[in-house]
Amino acid sequence: MRRQILETPSPVTARPLHVSEVDRLEPAEGEIVIDVAACGVCRTDLQLVEGDLAPRVLPVVPGHQVVGRVARVGEGVADWSMGQRAGVAWLAGACGSCEYCRSGRENLCADAVFAGWSSNGGYAQQIAVRSDFALRVPPMFSDVEAAPLLCGGIIGYRALKISGIQQGGRLGLYGFGASALLAMQVATYWSCDVFVATRSPAEQERAIAMGAAWTGSYHDRPPVALDAAVTFAPAGYVVVEALKSVARGGTIAINAIHLDRIPEFGYDLLWGERQLRSVANFTRQDAAEFLDLAAEIPIRTMPDVYPLGDANLALIRLKEGLVDGAAVLVTG
Ligand SMILES: [Zn+2]
Ligand SMILES: [Zn+2]
Repeated sequence: MRRQILETPSPVTARPLHVSEVDRLEPAEGEIVIDVAACGVCRTDLQLVEGDLAPRVLPVVPGHQVVGRVARVGEGVADWSMGQRAGVAWLAGACGSCEYCRSGRENLCADAVFAGWSSNGGYAQQIAVRSDFALRVPPMFSDVEAAPLLCGGIIGYRALKISGIQQGGRLGLYGFGASALLAMQVATYWSCDVFVATRSPAEQERAIAMGAAWTGSYHDRPPVALDAAVTFAPAGYVVVEALKSVARGGTIAINAIHLDRIPEFGYDLLWGERQLRSVANFTRQDAAEFLDLAAEIPIRTMPDVYPLGDANLALIRLKEGLVDGAAVLVTG
């Protein structure tokens, strides 16, 4: 089977991913092997490939938004059978016994396994994953439509929960890439007024078309104080700009695994029980809740499809802001 492998992180314009051919995968005990149909391309993949996110293992196959069909079932797997559609997202394993795992916070497990970071991911024709971490993908979504739900969607949903936004509340979204596009659809479904800050005029236009109450740049203030905000932009100063726009008691959920330095700011911005919270990974509970909700709404994803062989190109286009919606690699 063919896969795209990262040996040495380097600027994506140097095309750091290389195609390699290996034997078809064998499932270990408790694992399933999935024939990958589609794998989303995420900003986290770009950060890993370029070295902004330190690799956990090398070489590694990136990719953590995988949709495909079960090809092999390992010993002891009772809940999956050949041919079933399965998804793999970022959280691909947790210890199950630490205090976090035992209290419904497996997203914080120190021994968690992450697809495409600490184990080989979905930029490949096959992936092996623990069967109890594989996800059921709602049948209404095609493979390429479903892939972007599995990272940006699930983590965006967790970020909304962390932000504490309530039905009908005033929500700020800072950055309007693939994850924010999905979070906005959830917030709109919850009857929230959504205020979108982004540098990109094209993204501002898209936000208005999707029903945003207001758009502006990161330095602009929305016309009303926000109840909560989620920041998606991987830039620390954006967190401070969001903080300037939330009302007393409001929370900023920072949806970033890697962020540059947050600039110093005066305590008066935080005063009034405002909170800054990071969003780390997700739990299987978040994933199941979000996928049900995505089918109920139903959420529309905008896949921008590339063949697996063009993984470097997809990452370059993502970096250059040229991806319309969400980039997805397909193996077919
Ligand atoms: Zn991701
Ligand atoms: Zn644990």
